[in-house]
Amino acid sequence: MQPVSILITNDDGYGAEGLKALEESLGALGTVWVVAPDREQSGQGHALTLNHPLRFHRRGPRHFVVQGTPTDCVYLGVHTILKAEDRPRLVVSGINRGYNLGDDITYSGTVSAAFEATLMSLPSFAISQEVGEASPVDFKAAARFARNLAEEILRRGMPPDTLLNVNVPRKEPGGVRVTRQGKRLYPGGVIERHDPKGRPYYWIGGQSADWEADPKSDFAALADGCISVTPLHLDLTNDKVMDQVKRWNLAL
Ligand code: MN
Repeated sequence: MQPVSILITNDDGYGAEGLKALEESLGALGTVWVVAPDREQSGQGHALTLNHPLRFHRRGPRHFVVQGTPTDCVYLGVHTILKAEDRPRLVVSGINRGYNLGDDITYSGTVSAAFEATLMSLPSFAISQEVGEASPVDFKAAARFARNLAEEILRRGMPPDTLLNVNVPRKEPGGVRVTRQGKRLYPGGVIERHDPKGRPYYWIGGQSADWEADPKSDFAALADGCISVTPLHLDLTNDKVMDQVKRWNLAL
């Protein structure tokens, strides 16, 4: 059997430990191609670079850095770097430093890279590691799970228009749960500071946010010490409110 190509990327940047751990763990399953941003791109969501030229540089055999977003990495990786004859059988994004749960996934460069692969009809998953105060972060359990999941996807294929969002707890996982995307309750805080000239500047976020109680959610799985696997799809249509909106006066 011809070895399969696996494309990996992340949003923490090319030098990130989680990317290395992922590369090592998937190496046993096929030929791993690393195409990652040249710097941290966390929180960039599904951004695609359209208004300035994109460049990539080879850092070693099958290792490339892109001066762009995680989505750019998947796009260039599939269309240019791997080329048509070597289409990846799987795209994996991670292992992200910090989890990607609930509504946060719309901000996540890690998850968006996997979304991009799904748009290209390539099986993909995103994997993120809960971090605490301890440093360095231990990626062992996540790397092991990534390999098992990759093997399973290569064997079974992925349901169409679907990607998996995986989150791994900080402590040794007690199990694996298939979950729903949870809902965060943001305090909505903005921290205001002043620079030495007295001008205000702002930091968004930073405060810990709670989440809606839902035992089926990704948050609950992590809270119970389990790995969370959430199947996601690209269709954001809210079917439940379709009829309600149709009853509005939508006059021209
Ligand atoms: Mn990140």
